[in-house]
Amino acid sequence: MPTSSPALEIDGLVKDFGPVGALDGRMVRVLDGVSLRAEHGAVTVLLGANGAGKTTTLECAQGLQRADGGRVSLLGADPSRATPHLRARVGVMLQDGGLPPSVRPLALLRHVASMYADPLPVDALAERLGLDEFGAVSIRRLSGGQKQRLALACALVGRPEVVFLDEPSAGLDPQSRTIVFELIRELRADGLAVILTTHLLDDAQRLADYVYILEGGRTVAEGTVAELTADADGARELRFETVPGLSFPPDLLPHLLQRETEPGQYVLRGPLTADDVARLAGWWVACGVMPTGISMAPRSLEDVFLDISGRSIR
Ligand code: ATP
Repeated sequence: MPTSSPALEIDGLVKDFGPVGALDGRMVRVLDGVSLRAEHGAVTVLLGANGAGKTTTLECAQGLQRADGGRVSLLGADPSRATPHLRARVGVMLQDGGLPPSVRPLALLRHVASMYADPLPVDALAERLGLDEFGAVSIRRLSGGQKQRLALACALVGRPEVVFLDEPSAGLDPQSRTIVFELIRELRADGLAVILTTHLLDDAQRLADYVYILEGGRTVAEGTVAELTADADGARELRFETVPGLSFPPDLLPHLLQRETEPGQYVLRGPLTADDVARLAGWWVACGVMPTGISMAPRSLEDVFLDISGRSIR
């Protein structure tokens, strides 16, 4: 990563909660040394299973929770002592929105915009995120995806230098997701530091400049998507579809993992070469089968995530 002054720098963050329940009254350590850096003009993504500590990390970074150890620097300042000047430079979209239910969406967005010295033009932002379609209905009557778009608009309207987005695409239909992603990319190109959490590995793969994977309150892996998915042994995955019940001869491709994942669906994984593909094709000829589908791909973020955590992201 570049070494210029980052938008956010977290070093060895520790957070304890508790006492939890009435049984033993002990504190529980939910963050145990999280470190990360988020640059200007980049999308930094935090991945992790439920309870890994993503939201708590963001809350400490925003100054909403006080850290019990480690150091957090947001735009060069301590967020737990944020001044109005620092707050005005930071946009936040929380997981549950925190939107007032009885207010109308456009009225809220105008109100939020009025608190900033140089807000984005409200009408253009509302149109861009499709808020004008439901601008006159009270917030309590909005769908989950509509609330998400409104919360995103509120986080962005003050032209922040850093924006925190907790699961920004949760509940969005595919079209809204595309609109939101385009907007995030444009703002990134203007120098905005975007820090987001998601459960959708596909989102991370499409948007992220840099990824941190959290597990049990620690940062267990980091890198660009290309770095994380590149395998030391050049692993690739080849899938093919044909008649069920074929069994791979033991000496065909012994260096690759081979499985029939579902009847008629086969996967080979490992350091695949063109020679391996030719041997596989020779075996198909010998068996008298012609696959109805073949695909090959590098490791996905999901593979990386599964390798690290040994479980699915949800
Ligand atoms: P999710 O994907 O479900 O949103 P997350 O990675 O954002 O999860 P956090 O919400 O940061 O995880 O929670 C991390 C751990 O801290 C969880 O075990 C959670 O139960 C615990 N936790 C969070 N807030 C509190 C709190 N106020 N008091 C006690 N425990 C808490």
